[in-house]
Amino acid sequence: MIKTIEPAYLPNQALSILIDWKVTLKCNYDCSYCSTSWGHNNKIPHPDVDTCVKMLSQMYRYVDVVSKYKKPKSRKAVLNLLGGEVLYHPDVETILKKSSELYQPYVDKWHLDRRLTTNATASLDRWKLVCENIEGVTVSYHSEGPAKLKANVKQNILYMKQISKKFDLIVLMHHNDGYWKDCLQFIEWCNTNGITFRPRLLDGGYEYSVEQKKYLVHYYKNINEDKTQTGRSCCGGRQLCFDRNLRDRNNYFPQTTNFKGWYCGVNWFFLTSNAMTKQFFTNRDCHNKLDRTLGPIADINTMDEYIDRFDQMIEQGQLPVIKCQQERCGCGICAPKSTSAETLKDIMSVYLQDVALKNFNSVKK
Ligand code: SF4
Ligand code: SF4
Repeated sequence: MIKTIEPAYLPNQALSILIDWKVTLKCNYDCSYCSTSWGHNNKIPHPDVDTCVKMLSQMYRYVDVVSKYKKPKSRKAVLNLLGGEVLYHPDVETILKKSSELYQPYVDKWHLDRRLTTNATASLDRWKLVCENIEGVTVSYHSEGPAKLKANVKQNILYMKQISKKFDLIVLMHHNDGYWKDCLQFIEWCNTNGITFRPRLLDGGYEYSVEQKKYLVHYYKNINEDKTQTGRSCCGGRQLCFDRNLRDRNNYFPQTTNFKGWYCGVNWFFLTSNAMTKQFFTNRDCHNKLDRTLGPIADINTMDEYIDRFDQMIEQGQLPVIKCQQERCGCGICAPKSTSAETLKDIMSVYLQDVALKNFNSVKK
């Protein structure tokens, strides 16, 4: 039985804080596996720039408070700009420039890595502009897109290779036969052009055939080839281990994972914000709050107060971690967690400074 879970950890590897920022819900694609509540929705208007800037400054403040208590190697934030399709936002250039300006007070305190998650269908001119204003790009390849836009994707990928831009390429492995073949052809193109890629399973309980699983087992060693078992993999490619067995790392996890009642440090490693609803959540899939209820942790009007309270809890000797109330764990599965509050505190010592930990004398039960 699994008793504890902690992320795969190497002495030189750190677990940063991942901020998913939903900048717009509008998108030029309409993938069948993309939900209108979280994925894309063209009926919802773009948020205005002032909202984006204020939320951005709050995200940075949260990272600053959390980083104060982390070991130096973990003082790093990955700001993931997500859509819809972010490049659809008419003010995306202003937003990107502001993300640089607002970071200036924190430059010496923690490292920022901005990543744009995109379907990379933009024209080459627009693409060049993006590459000048962002540290890294995560390209998602979607087989349902029209041939003309898929040609743009290839062109933009080759451009990034040419200028040595940091990028990840994720191929969304469509279970439908025709689209599956398209994915395989795209992978072949990647191999021919020396492009590194990562196949990713569709989230949402899609079933893959035995043949498809035979292919996927090359990438996900613990996928079960024979059964109609469903599972998920980390969007960021993170691995994790079970029962603190650091040598055995996994990148595929059963979909049914349920940690209700466990203690979890997810809030130290994730933050999600939605510029359309002006709300903040622990993360994309995890809506747990410190008060042991479910919902947004704050909105644009209350986030500053939330950050102050988080800081005060630590100063008062409490460990602000979650006690999970959710039936299903999706994104956030890689966060340190345990059935026991004491064990979680022990695991957190990998990431938090001694000076901060020695004050922790209680975890709210
Ligand atoms: S490209 Fe991404 S955001 Fe757009 S429809 Fe497809 S999955 Fe959804
Ligand atoms: S749902 Fe959230 S609190 Fe529960 S185990 Fe997953 S990441 Fe942790």
